[in-house]
Amino acid sequence: MIEKTIAAPLEIAAIPARRSKKALHNRVNRRELKALLQKDTVKRVTLSFYKYAQIPDPQAFRDELYGLWDALGVLGRTYLAKEGINAQISVPEHQFESFKTLMNSYEMFKGMRLNVAVEAEGKSFFALTLKVKDKIVADGLNDPTFDPANTGTHLDAEAWNLASEEPDVILVDMRNHYESEVGHFEHAITPDVATFRDELPLVAELLAEQRDKKILMYCTGGIRCEKASAYMKHNGFNNVFQLEGGIIEYDRQVRAKNLENKFLGKNFVFDERLGERISPDVIAHCHQCGQSSDAHTNCANLYCHILFIQCNDCREKYAGCCSEHCSTFNALPVEVQKECAPTTVFNGSKFGKGAYKAFRKAGGSLNKSTPSPVQFLP
Ligand SMILES: [Zn+2]
Ligand SMILES: [Zn+2]
Repeated sequence: MIEKTIAAPLEIAAIPARRSKKALHNRVNRRELKALLQKDTVKRVTLSFYKYAQIPDPQAFRDELYGLWDALGVLGRTYLAKEGINAQISVPEHQFESFKTLMNSYEMFKGMRLNVAVEAEGKSFFALTLKVKDKIVADGLNDPTFDPANTGTHLDAEAWNLASEEPDVILVDMRNHYESEVGHFEHAITPDVATFRDELPLVAELLAEQRDKKILMYCTGGIRCEKASAYMKHNGFNNVFQLEGGIIEYDRQVRAKNLENKFLGKNFVFDERLGERISPDVIAHCHQCGQSSDAHTNCANLYCHILFIQCNDCREKYAGCCSEHCSTFNALPVEVQKECAPTTVFNGSKFGKGAYKAFRKAGGSLNKSTPSPVQFLP
């Protein structure tokens, strides 16, 4: 079936029309899916990829891909937008070649890099979801003349190392402040921003007088720099380069080819590990006592949940919480917590559960001013 659709690409487009809309979504609940996957003995390849490409009708393309991927047994999470695709998926090992053939049958995906996770067990995803979004990377831009496909020049790890040694180059970290705080390239500019959409205009403004200098940009896996480098070119920068595949791919190449590592500290990642160590350097400090530490954690009080850096001593002292305020609250019986939470302020906001906030380099503080003993009233 799949072999046939690959051989005759015209039929690919015909598939969704023959399927009912409902068949293009999961109809089994998440718990059942999880149980099914645990029992499944099929080996899976976990991979991610992204591509900026013009997709005029993302919804139609989404339905087309859903049918084809579902038939191959693909699981995972994918975003589609008019500007491209961003996918984190797993593919049954025995279908991996078919998957690659399928993706290569689309002109826009030819030669696209697939990042295969080396240590993943292949059980990270239970269902196949493809979502249509406004953008694959939220950028806050609304300029129809901006072309995200007009990117900077890609550099591999070796070329990156060489370029970064040239005099007068500017290295820019395109991640958020809490990411660069625990790790960054030597001599890089690390803007104090909480979101990518804040960072784009800020960096262009910061470097406005240096349009002809060589600008080297990097991020975690490369997807943000694809857009950021295009944005810099759009703003009249002529010498824009970006680290191909980001810090993740840089680290892989440095190890595989035994190159000099110029990245200091940890690479922040958005899963439960919160960071992968790239070099032994600890470049950050505990937000509570100031001693050397680069261990990110979320406040153990789930009604606060702020992301911050905590050393082992403070972890013990505050029972994993960001403040005495939170540790006192967290020690209350769950029922009392539930009652008090809606009227209690944590880190400047009421009932911040689930909020993904982080301590800012400039101006932030972790509830240090909270009077003690703390009173919580429902
Ligand atoms: Zn500490
Ligand atoms: Zn807290």
